[in-house]
Amino acid sequence: MKITIVAGARPNFIKIAPIINAIEKKKSAGANVSYRLVHTGQHYDKNLSDTFFEELNIPKPHANLEVKSGSQAEQTAAIMIAFEKELIQNPSDLVLVVGDVNSTMACAIVSKKLNTKVAHVEAGIRSGDMTMPEEINRIVTDSITDYFFTTSETASENLKKYGVDINDIHFVGNVMIDTLYQNQSRFEQPAFWNDFNLEEKNYIVLTLHRPANVDEVDSLVNLLQGIDRLANGKKIIFPIHPRTKSILGEKKLEVENICMIEPQGYLNFMYLVKKSFAVITDSGGLSEETTVLGIPCFTMRNNTERPETITVGTNNLVGTSVKNLEKIYSEFLNAESRKCGIPQLWDGKASERIIDILLSH
Ligand code: UDP
Repeated sequence: MKITIVAGARPNFIKIAPIINAIEKKKSAGANVSYRLVHTGQHYDKNLSDTFFEELNIPKPHANLEVKSGSQAEQTAAIMIAFEKELIQNPSDLVLVVGDVNSTMACAIVSKKLNTKVAHVEAGIRSGDMTMPEEINRIVTDSITDYFFTTSETASENLKKYGVDINDIHFVGNVMIDTLYQNQSRFEQPAFWNDFNLEEKNYIVLTLHRPANVDEVDSLVNLLQGIDRLANGKKIIFPIHPRTKSILGEKKLEVENICMIEPQGYLNFMYLVKKSFAVITDSGGLSEETTVLGIPCFTMRNNTERPETITVGTNNLVGTSVKNLEKIYSEFLNAESRKCGIPQLWDGKASERIIDILLSH
């Protein structure tokens, strides 16, 4: 079986690493499987791309479509045009897409129109929020997918409600957590640890990049200043996403606790998360990682496509206002007990299950 694996953005790289490992393992054991890795070039900054390939030992892509930035339509169209040529020149039995970025949807559409089967890893998750580009990408991708690999029973149920045949839905667990387990022993203290006088469990990690939080500069400044106050002297380590950085521009930020740093590589970033007191974020992936590491997480969104991080894990949905964050954070500080569990099948073996299923069909 020849599989084309597509990856375009930071969270995609983290998700494909264990899938490639699982394929290599099967190949060494004599299975008839090979892959071609296509990087669409959606993320191209060294900090968001190359670093992840190096740290997670992902082989150099066989092709890089180099689409770079653009509006939603420009980027999606550019990926489709380039990927159509790629897949015609290098046909495969199956195209495997992960997550919910523009590359996921664009390459799924192209594959299906070239009569190539599509596997979607992280299928079926839904926020119900149609203002998020990711939600549209999820719905479109899942409407033409052949193999649906899900991270939760809720995601599988969502697909059933959409009329997907239950034989095509495979609840396998979470590949992002495979990467976490495979690399946990390599998490590495960042060089700035001592410069910032960081102490275990005494600082907060902050990431923000979703349009609802960062697209309007004055609200962003207001939000950051509110988070700064809430920290009550704890340092806040804020690896700033290029998108957020460019919106903030030259705007003056009066903050005492927030330390702005460049986006971190996976090994330094996960070290910071693992040793933190809490995480404030609008990232979906991070709410999954904090759940597995047992780190309290406050998600600055009104909804989540990953409800198990709340019902089972450490995540708290706080909306996008500082006031609500302050309220929920202070309730958390005063709480007598804290929930902390790991969702079913988030055990580091999702990628092996995926490859086993694909090879048995
Ligand atoms: N991440 C990282 N360095 C950083 C920030 C994030 O390695 O400075 C990793 C982390 O594992 C996180 C993932 O990137 O779960 C996803 O990032 P992003 O917020 O871009 O994607 P989302 O989860 O929102 O789709």
